[in-house]
Amino acid sequence: MDLFEYQGKQYFARYDIPVSPGGVAYTVDEAVTVAASAGYPVVIKAQVQVGGRGKAGGIKLAENADEVRLHATNIIGMDIKGHVVKRVWVEHASDIAEEYYASFTLDRAAKKHLLMLSAQGGVEIEVVAESNPEAIVLHHIDPVDGLTLDQARAVATEAKINPIAIEGAADMLVKLYGCFTRGDCDLAEINPLILRPDGGVHALDAKVSLDNNAAFRHPEWDEYRATEELDDREQLARSHDLQYIGLDGTVGIIANGAGLAMSTLDVVNQVGGSAANFLDIGGGANADMMAAALEVINFDQNVKSIFINIFGGITRGEEVAKGIVEALGRVDLRAPIVIRLDGTNAELGREILANAGIPESTLISMPTMLEAARAAVAIANASTTENGN
Ligand code: GDP
Ligand code: MN
Repeated sequence: MDLFEYQGKQYFARYDIPVSPGGVAYTVDEAVTVAASAGYPVVIKAQVQVGGRGKAGGIKLAENADEVRLHATNIIGMDIKGHVVKRVWVEHASDIAEEYYASFTLDRAAKKHLLMLSAQGGVEIEVVAESNPEAIVLHHIDPVDGLTLDQARAVATEAKINPIAIEGAADMLVKLYGCFTRGDCDLAEINPLILRPDGGVHALDAKVSLDNNAAFRHPEWDEYRATEELDDREQLARSHDLQYIGLDGTVGIIANGAGLAMSTLDVVNQVGGSAANFLDIGGGANADMMAAALEVINFDQNVKSIFINIFGGITRGEEVAKGIVEALGRVDLRAPIVIRLDGTNAELGREILANAGIPESTLISMPTMLEAARAAVAIANASTTENGN
């Protein structure tokens, strides 16, 4: 779950990372009130989950209430790369001497945490990575050992952080690592991490992504979930507890197990199609799950065919088949289904489907994953051409 900047800053504060005094405002009047308590000058920042807000006019400095009114009026309701600004964060403005970049993520391949630090912050890190990769220092951390102040100092030195900022930056890195690990983040990023003219090191931005698998030990995350912005498809999927990610292709995909679902996306691509989604109904999926999955896929206007790819281990073929029959009774599917059903009780499942009297224009069964992908893509592509889009 991705947090807004203001939530990220509130989260930082829980882990002793200092942030500027400020508050969130939904209206121009609220912005003026918050500005007064934060203390002028203030910076008004659009709260959208997309970078480059400054360039888009979503970040403005204000010296007084009139300027707050002017900028808040412009920013609230503004569209930044397709995200409409519903709220602004107003905080006491900082003087900036230098801008750095710092982040922690998990490097799955290395099975270690990864600290990235650069003296060239402020701009998007992808740009630095492209134009000047040696300006980013990568440091792997064994999660058992953690990160010490000494190591953090060494990384800051290697990144050519200004000598007067080394101590402050190292302290900030250790605290940010604490937030990343104890706070169960997938990503904890500060860009820019600034050096102030007075020598202090301070976080001006916050990008935090929380690891949903750890939600059970963070009741405080509920308030973030309340403001989470999912698309309609994702919201419906969440209400059914399905692992779903919306994409923009035309072949709806249902598979059991994340690995098989990923392979299904690949094979659809390989044969010239494009996936409308990732959907893993999990091991041990039953008829209800299958019916819910079909409902979610069917909700997507772009779907032109539905590829159900099941290799039953714990998931049983007859449950999958029952789910499909049940779903067909419940929802009016917008697109035909192509199914590849294999594994545990697959034969029983195929028998149930065959005896359910489903017309071939609604459901086709294919013996292999590749053949099923070809059939699903052929249907989707034919229907896309027909409609001229
Ligand atoms: P992003 O571009 O969407 O990531 O937004 P940031 O929060 O990183 O802000 C972008 C830029 O605005 C920063 O790199 C700063 O140059 C500037 N900025 C943000 N807050 C302040 C502030 O308090 N004082 C000053 N002088 N500039 C700021
Ligand atoms: Mn930023």
